[in-house]
Amino acid sequence: MGDYVNVAEIFGENVFNDAVMQARLPKKVYKKLKDVIDEGRELDLETADVVAHEMKEWAIEKGATHYTHWFQPLTGVTAEKHDSFITAPMENGKVLMSFSGKELIKGEPDASSFPSGGLRATFEARGYTAWDCTSPAFVRQDAAGATLCIPTAFCSYTGEALDQKTPLLRSMEAINEQSLRLLRLFGNTTSKKVTPSVGPEQEYFIVDREKYLQRKDLIFTGRTLFGAMPPKGQEMDDHYFGAIRERIASFMKDVNVELWKLGVTAKTQHNEVAPAQHELAPIYGEANVAVDHNQLVMETLKKVAGRHGLQCLLHEKPFAGVNGSGKHNNWSITTDDGINLLEPGKTPHENIQFLLVLTCVLKAVYIHADLLRESAADVGNDHRLGANEAPPAILSVYLGEQLQDVLTQLISTGEATHSLTGQRLETGVRTLPDFMKDATDRNRTSPFAFTGNKFEFRMVGSQDSIAQPNVVLNTIVAEAFSEACDVLEKADDFNLAVHDLIKEYATKYQDIVFNGDGYSDEWVAEAKRRGLPNIKSMVDAIPALNAEKAVALFEKFKVFTRAELDSRVEIEYETYAKEINIEAKAMIDIATKQIIPSVIKYTTVLAESITAVKNACGAVVSTQETILREVSSLLADTKRALDQLIEVTGKAGSMGEGREQAVYYRDVVKTAMDELRTPVDQLEMLVDKAMWPMPSYGDLIFEV
Ligand code: ADP
Ligand code: MG
Repeated sequence: MGDYVNVAEIFGENVFNDAVMQARLPKKVYKKLKDVIDEGRELDLETADVVAHEMKEWAIEKGATHYTHWFQPLTGVTAEKHDSFITAPMENGKVLMSFSGKELIKGEPDASSFPSGGLRATFEARGYTAWDCTSPAFVRQDAAGATLCIPTAFCSYTGEALDQKTPLLRSMEAINEQSLRLLRLFGNTTSKKVTPSVGPEQEYFIVDREKYLQRKDLIFTGRTLFGAMPPKGQEMDDHYFGAIRERIASFMKDVNVELWKLGVTAKTQHNEVAPAQHELAPIYGEANVAVDHNQLVMETLKKVAGRHGLQCLLHEKPFAGVNGSGKHNNWSITTDDGINLLEPGKTPHENIQFLLVLTCVLKAVYIHADLLRESAADVGNDHRLGANEAPPAILSVYLGEQLQDVLTQLISTGEATHSLTGQRLETGVRTLPDFMKDATDRNRTSPFAFTGNKFEFRMVGSQDSIAQPNVVLNTIVAEAFSEACDVLEKADDFNLAVHDLIKEYATKYQDIVFNGDGYSDEWVAEAKRRGLPNIKSMVDAIPALNAEKAVALFEKFKVFTRAELDSRVEIEYETYAKEINIEAKAMIDIATKQIIPSVIKYTTVLAESITAVKNACGAVVSTQETILREVSSLLADTKRALDQLIEVTGKAGSMGEGREQAVYYRDVVKTAMDELRTPVDQLEMLVDKAMWPMPSYGDLIFEV
């Protein structure tokens, strides 16, 4: 059944990739463009003209009528402004389709409404988009037709970054430069370029679109603001999902096909812990392409869901009390000739280069734990970090048994002499092959886990861009490499110096390592003793971004200027206040216009029933009366809490902007929101289901 899909044939068919360029561009032009891409040179206009022309011809063959500079402003989603290829009509009344090199490499969207955090005064509101030729252009087909999308960076008139991509590209240059320095010290003369590789695992929820449309909270905020827990939660056993599988499977198949056409290597998909929750992971790729692709994954999930009568929820916590969604950011560093700097080999204790890289990462995470935490902060993620499902808000590194053992040897004797090896896994079934267990088991509770030959940063929120976490990772590790190279380049005896340095780092920064259960209360107490930061809310995470330590780091590696950091801080406070404000207003709206009227109707029914029964037989109707009293009392609580929420939300406008306002929203408005939710959720358990104004958690999660 179903259409046969030839993956090899469709993969990348809508991408202006290397193969297409090689086939279509004149040899000289192709060579020039490759140099620009590989070596970061500047593209001349003449070459750009030829590339643009071929790109347009190719896109038109795919049905494209428009092109767009596709960019990632600081809103978390992508933005685009569409221009058609047509030029002014000629004398014969016909139009030409044209696209110049200038239009390819530079755009000026009317983008004054994107957040700039004060970087652009209105009188200089120009923003420019510039082609990022390291991420291939693609044709996107949807209801609006086909559009040639050109990945771009977005900067202000004076060159400040207004987007996610610019700092990411800068941070990639930083880690490239410092990694090469480190490799040279170990005698590597052949690697020319080092790139961070990223593979993000995307979690998401799927619900029925009809039901979604009956929930204003989901529509306006992406999460449920009310909702009592269903009688059964995550312990639901699997056969419940039998019926939904077909529908979800057909959705997933479509998602894969769409992504493959766009050159996204969608690979694994599986159900997650929570009902109706799923995960999609691509094969890892270069950081900036991975970031673009993750945006495409999120867009595609939403778009394709709509076609199947489904709705994709990317919010970190769509349902209170049900596991939320995150994004595991798998990260490693790879050379152009295929060496992964995080590959320990079978005997890590002998792999000095690896041990230096590893201890540098420990140092980076120890010193900049607050920055990494900040990079995963978004409003929705506040519901996860620190709750009993996502890694805690405390940054720590999981190394596993084997590396922990090497580290312990280094710390105690200064010398690591052996590595633990994996044991034979005996399945006890004769027809199954025994195989070697990995030397290291998995730990699912660590926010930053070493998993074989990569680190997995698990704090990131499901709807957030993965750009910022990777900017921070690249830059803090670049700093650690740079400081190590400063020492080692000067050393008389390299071997001695590198051993000393590894031991020094292992000892000094061992407190960041934690191999136990990250969800336990003991860890919270232990982390406190170790002096590790435990930053529970986004509002408290933000200041790390422009603290003096961060400014020095980012300016040194030319990733952010102080002004850019200040602007981002401002934008984040603003975003926080805005989002909570929308949630509060949505709650007020729903409580006032949907919940209270429904409850009143139900009380009327109860009251009528009491009267009717009394009139009919004069019997005692204490049960109905008890329910009526209960409902009425909760209704009164609801009204009181609603009035309180209206009052505190109204006052928010008079707070000073920025931090003060954000703190007010977190401490006062959110508290009032919680207080309104409590009686409403209790009412949901009492009121006739037919009269409740929206689908329940059970309807949403179990009946997809
Ligand atoms: P799991 O859920 O077991 O962690 P998945 O297969 O779902 O594993 O996801 C692992 C992700 O890590 C994939 O996107 C994969 O491509 C990526 N990955 C694997 N090796 C590396 C590496 N060396 N560097 C970066 N990412 C990697
Ligand atoms: Mg994982």
